[in-house]
Amino acid sequence: MKTCPNCQRRALSLITDLAAGKRYCYRCIPNPMNCLGAVFVARKMEELHLAGKLETYSVEQRLKDLKDPPRGFAGGGDKLSELCRRRDGSFRAHFHTRAKAEAFAADPQNHPVYLGDIAHHCAKCGFWHLSRFEWLFSEWNESNALIS
Ligand SMILES: [Zn+2]
Ligand SMILES: [Zn+2]
Repeated sequence: MKTCPNCQRRALSLITDLAAGKRYCYRCIPNPMNCLGAVFVARKMEELHLAGKLETYSVEQRLKDLKDPPRGFAGGGDKLSELCRRRDGSFRAHFHTRAKAEAFAADPQNHPVYLGDIAHHCAKCGFWHLSRFEWLFSEWNESNALIS
């Protein structure tokens, strides 16, 4: 076991947040939405390790979960909710507040994808997403067919 440099709790594995250059355990990582796969795998490995069954979790399965964590897993310890995915099946960016979403869109590092995107609260998953204005408009049209 290792000691998490952030919360000082014991953890089987630590997750490095490349953007922040810091290491966290799956329990205290501030933005689990940004790396759900890593959070999921770290948590599952620790649960299996404590149960003495870590060897039942194959490397192939770990890699698969890392890329595509099971649907419904929201990370951050015990919080479970259905998260929105893109059409290709990957998770959309999720933010807890409008300010966080807007700060992300304003960061030049994220400009190739998110520049000019609009932060909006999602009624489906309860988080904030960033969307192209055109997408928002078409979603809005589809779900509000009576409004012209
Ligand atoms: Zn921690
Ligand atoms: Zn959503």
